[in-house]
Amino acid sequence: FDDRDGWIWWDGHLIPWRDAKLHVLTHGLHYASAVFEGERSYAGHVFRLRAHTDRLINSGRILGFDIPFSAEQIDAAIVETLAANNLTDAYVRPLAWRGSEMLAVAAQHTKIHLMIAVWPWPNLFGADRMAGVRLGVASWRRPHPQTSPTAAKAAGNYMIGTLSKHEAEAAGWNDALMLDWRGQISEATGANIFFVIDGVLHTPTPDCFLDGITRRSVMALARKRQMTVVERAMMPEEMAQASECFLAGTAAEVTPVRQIGDYHFTPGAITETLLGDYEALVRMAPAEVEAKLAA
Ligand code: PMP
Repeated sequence: FDDRDGWIWWDGHLIPWRDAKLHVLTHGLHYASAVFEGERSYAGHVFRLRAHTDRLINSGRILGFDIPFSAEQIDAAIVETLAANNLTDAYVRPLAWRGSEMLAVAAQHTKIHLMIAVWPWPNLFGADRMAGVRLGVASWRRPHPQTSPTAAKAAGNYMIGTLSKHEAEAAGWNDALMLDWRGQISEATGANIFFVIDGVLHTPTPDCFLDGITRRSVMALARKRQMTVVERAMMPEEMAQASECFLAGTAAEVTPVRQIGDYHFTPGAITETLLGDYEALVRMAPAEVEAKLAA
């Protein structure tokens, strides 16, 4: 992934993709003092750009650092990076991390860096999305919010994500459903989850995992359709009552789920409606998006 043409924005400047290299004594690499975002540009507009930028800045604050660029500067840098790479439809990956000025658990005097990379991005689970994906149940569990900074999109929170995804793929699943430390349903490794039970949309309360921007957008779209949306603690056994299930995330968009472990679902009308509404939403101009999502 490092050997390709293109431009990466790094601490205020665009540099050739191949030259965007770090010193091996970077604190973020050793101690996971890094936060990032995953965003998507559709037809030249980054979907909910400011919400992602705000979350990036907030993730840094949760990890105890201030990114040395304003939200306005970060938004402009993302637009600049997309233009430099001549991309209108792309995945956008900003990353902020502690540098290599000191290497110990204590790292107060490290410099905070910011980079932005963009690249073309096909649908995460391939073309026939209504067919649905299959999830295994992960061995790893999402930690208590006093065990890890679960509200931050922080690199360290992804260690168990990678382990769970590898475990799931090795067993032939597309992804993993992760339970939390209480045994409640939390989310997939990179997307939030929704269930349809008796025609009502249910989704776990995000009290120890990421409250996704896609998740919140889908909830708003569902309410616009007069659907009832319930956020609550959900136990895995309840999946027996669910008729439909889908994932929601920047990369996953709305992806139907047809199986989780021993439970089977049939992607149906509610999933299809919200998938269509989300696909339309992401292609609207930014002001229209915010107007559509406003209560
Ligand atoms: N949970 C995790 C662990 C994720 O990585 C993501 C993707 N950022 C999400 C949920 C969904 O968040 P969003 O809708 O903001 O992309």
